[in-house]
This record gives sequence, structure tokens and C-alpha cells, in this order.
Amino acid sequence: MHSQRWTGIVVVLTLTFGVGTGAAAAAPTPQAHVVAATDAAPAADAARPPVTGGFRTFWLRVRGADGFLGEPLAPRACTKARTRCSQRFEGGTLTWRKGSRVEVAESRETSSVLVVVNKRRPLSPRTYAPPKLRTVKGSNQRLRPQAATALEKLMRAAAADGVPLNVRSGHRSYATQKSVYARWVRTYGKARADRISARAGHSEHQTGLAVDVLTRGHSFGTFGRTPQARWVARNAHRYGFIVRYRAGQEKVTGYSPEPWHLRYVGVALARDMRLAGSRSLEGHLGIAAAPGYR
Ligand SMILES: [Zn+2]
Repeated sequence: MHSQRWTGIVVVLTLTFGVGTGAAAAAPTPQAHVVAATDAAPAADAARPPVTGGFRTFWLRVRGADGFLGEPLAPRACTKARTRCSQRFEGGTLTWRKGSRVEVAESRETSSVLVVVNKRRPLSPRTYAPPKLRTVKGSNQRLRPQAATALEKLMRAAAADGVPLNVRSGHRSYATQKSVYARWVRTYGKARADRISARAGHSEHQTGLAVDVLTRGHSFGTFGRTPQARWVARNAHRYGFIVRYRAGQEKVTGYSPEPWHLRYVGVALARDMRLAGSRSLEGHLGIAAAPGYR
């Protein structure tokens, strides 16, 4: 049922950069330089806090000042023993702990649109419920308000392009997810259920930022072959959504391909992932793969 192949168009942009040294860090990135040349005085550019070392490597990989992180707001701050460092940017905070990789701090905050929920990163608390949900127009499903507004725009654009979509499933509570997962386990057994459904407290649907879209008359098994699925793969990023579980990423995301499962991350990050050719949220944000539960 969930074995169809999905092929999307991927724009691959190769970024070439060196690991920042103290001296190189003072120089603006090529992207930052373009911004400075058009709408910022050189003095203001020189006054920006430097981005150095591993933070610089990460920042450039996500398109520097032009990416979702934007400009640095403060210099890097480290603990006295230098076992932990962080740096604030316009679009989030980078953190590093000794023994692990640089990642985006907001990806751990359940209420953030950048939150990463997977088999290794449950919601916190596991029974988390979004403070506000809104019904998506033309459906009986609810999402966080900004995701609902973005989805309505996406669906209007899809319909205008002749590929109308239906909302199948939006927010799911902890209790609902518990029964959904139990049903899959009863049907297919635990091993297969874990490839197609999340355990309660580990589902993106519980954040109110994920939605399953389908075409009238199509099931999950056939959606991947529809023009709608191709349209979604090409255009979702324009509205701040990503196709979260892509083909060939099971070892990173922990799930079989789901061309119908869209996750709202905001336009800046969705566009960045598209431009960088990133195939998973984990990979793009520097977060460890989550092939299974611990
Ligand atoms: Zn889904």
C-alpha cells in the first residue's frame, strides 16, 4: 500500500566553501556581500558579528545570510570550559555541544515551526497539544494557523493549475495517534507499522504542522502516480511546505516514501532545502538520522 515509487525534480546547488578560520571569518560570504552591495552600508556590514569555525561551515551550507538563518545577531557565546557554544541569528540559534554536531536549537522546541520530530526526537511533552488550531477552509481538518493559511494558498494554486487537492488528515492528538498506530500494528505487525506510522508522541501530525493531501478518488497507494503528486513535489516549497518523507531517505527519516505528507517549515527554510537539493529535514539542519526508535 505504501510501496509506490515517487520521483520529484530536484534542483541541486553545490556550495563550495572553506572552513572558516578566524581571519577568513571577517570576510562576508558571497551571498552576504550581494546584500551589502545593494541595501546596506559597508560600515554596517563590517559591524556584523563574525561567524566562525563550525558555525560558519553550517551557516554557509544553509545559504548564509540569504538562507533561513539570515544574519548573525550576536557573536558566538561559549561556556568557560568551551564544551557548549551558541550563536543567535535572525532566523534561529545555532548550538554546538562537545561530541556532537552543530544544529539549529529551535529544532528541539515543540512550538517552533522548525521543530524536528522523528523516532529519536519525540514531542516534548509527548502529549503536547498546539495552543491554537484552525480548521482549513473546505475541509474538516485542523492545523496551526500559519500552516492552515499556507495550505489554503497552496490548494488554491493547485486547483488553479488544474490539479485540485483534498485535505485528508491534519492535526492528530496524542490519543488519536495512539489508536492510528495500534490499528496499523494489528493490520501489519509492529515492524511494518513502524515504517508507515508513528508511535504516539512521535508524530509530526501532533505538532499541527503536518498534513496529508490526496486527490479525490485516490488512495495513499496511488497518489504518488498522480499529476497532483508531481505538482506538490515541484511547488510545495513556494508555500512553506516540504515533502517530508522522500524516496531513498528511509535510513534518515525512518519512514517509507510519503508523497502526500507535507510538513510546514516556513517559506525560507522550504526554499533553502529546495535550492540546496536537501532530501531530508534532518540532513539540512545537521540533525542525526532517526532510522528507528532507541
Ligand atoms: Zn502524514
